[in-house]
Amino acid sequence: MRYLLLIITAIFFYACASTDYTNRSQLMLLSDKEEMALGEQSAKEILQNAKISRNAIQTKMVERVGVRIANVANRPDFKWEFHLLQGEQINAFCLPGGKVFVYTGLMDLVANDDELAVVLSHEIAHTILRHGAERMSMQNIRQIGGSLLGLIVQSQAPEYTSLFNQAYSVGSNVGVMLPFSRSHELEADKVGIALMQKAGYNTQAAITFWQKMATDEKDSSDFLSTHPSDTKRIQAIQEILK
Ligand SMILES: [Zn+2]
Repeated sequence: MRYLLLIITAIFFYACASTDYTNRSQLMLLSDKEEMALGEQSAKEILQNAKISRNAIQTKMVERVGVRIANVANRPDFKWEFHLLQGEQINAFCLPGGKVFVYTGLMDLVANDDELAVVLSHEIAHTILRHGAERMSMQNIRQIGGSLLGLIVQSQAPEYTSLFNQAYSVGSNVGVMLPFSRSHELEADKVGIALMQKAGYNTQAAITFWQKMATDEKDSSDFLSTHPSDTKRIQAIQEILK
């Protein structure tokens, strides 16, 4: 037991990073580079297997809004790409490295560029705040009795890939989706709204969009299971916008 505590303490000392923007310290067992390599690999797999939407108007909208948010995200090391995938999933996610995916199912709920900016800036915020890597690190700590750093050494291992997919809410075929914690959601809302503002979008859309999500009956959606919307969240956004 003492040994275990020592290991945990050592990890906290060696593996703490701090978030961009909010400067919160976070447990991080994954380097930026490792995380980005996994993101690139995952993006390749998605593009090989998923169906790209042929809807030219929605595709342009995703690119237009995505590029505008990316331009203010201050990540010149990211190779940004924006893809619209054909699928009923109400989902969108951003992988480390800057590959952003949106499903047509989500586009059907988005009324205009401002609302799409809410989703994209929120997803991009999760990634630049490294929430996925933080979740992977936390999961890894929980499995400390098993393989601690083994997963990182064998980054191609299937269990690692599935952990990555869960941590980044990569859509479809990954089984259980891990909801982001309330603190991660709040942080992504704050930074997302800051990005929207910098990019010149109407930040009030954050309220209307999440209100719409909260009243939407489609509670089985991927997006809502990982990003639950309720009155607490909307109140918190109203506070941010004050
Ligand atoms: Zn979120």
